[in-house]
Formats: sequence, structure tokens, C-alpha cells
Amino acid sequence: MGLARGLVAGVLVLLGAAPPASSPGPTEVTVRGRVLMLESALRMLDLELKLDPGSASKQVVLLGEDRSILPLFRDEVTRALFEDDRLRNLRAELHGRRYPGVPYLKVSSVRVEHDGHFQVPEYFCDVCSISVRAPQICPCCQGPMVLQMRPDRR
Ligand SMILES: [Zn+2]
Repeated sequence: MGLARGLVAGVLVLLGAAPPASSPGPTEVTVRGRVLMLESALRMLDLELKLDPGSASKQVVLLGEDRSILPLFRDEVTRALFEDDRLRNLRAELHGRRYPGVPYLKVSSVRVEHDGHFQVPEYFCDVCSISVRAPQICPCCQGPMVLQMRPDRR
């Protein structure tokens, strides 16, 4: 029986159908540093790289306390960091996932330092009393939404 199983496994390997050797899953991480455009982060590290103009001004990164650069995926969670420069160059704490072999962080929560505490940035409509994560007009009344910092419940 062991032989038969071995043969089957061997055939599967030959067919390329063997299951991948326990590929490691994503890792939950919490990282602290400063949220910056890549070009600012490179400047802070005194790296003078000849890049095409604008190429480093569209990528937002976290410059870690260990001076490592961690690029962020742009999505609903991080869109505010890409679009609102008031949220950059502040101390920040990001929680998210690292995937093996992928240099980008998939952020699940953003907190930035405000009044000496890490707080959650959000955009608020006074009229409708609703908040959203990214800058936009109010989805309810189409009015303006204002950036505010919400003290974290944690
Ligand atoms: Zn509204």
C-alpha cells in the first residue's frame, strides 16, 4: 500500500499536479513608522536614485522605525493616504498582512498620530452624521466631508 501511494504520488509529481509543499500563508503584522511618498522616503534615506519623473510620487510607503521601506497596496483602506497629504509625514501605525514573496503590505487598519495618540482618520458629514474612510463627497447628501481623527477604541 505504501508502494502504491508512492507510485501515485510520483505520477502526480510528474504531471505537475502534486499539491504545493505547504506554502506559507499571510502573516498578520503591525508596523510603525512614517507614511510618505516613496520619493520623500528615498530622500530621507539619502538615496539618490535616478528615477523617471513622477514614478516615485505615486507610491505611498511606510518608512519604518528601522528605516526600511514598505510599500502599501492602494485600496479602499489606504486610499486616503494616497490622496490626502495631510495624512502623510505623520507617525503612523498600520495593521495588515504580508504575503510571502510580496513586498507590499495589504493594510487592514490605519492609525496616525494626532495630539500625541494614534487615532483613526475618517471623513465625516455633519449633516448626515456618517463617516467614510477615504476622501469623497458625502454619499448621502452629496455635501463636503471633513477629515477628523477618531480616538481608537482599542
Ligand atoms: Zn451628508
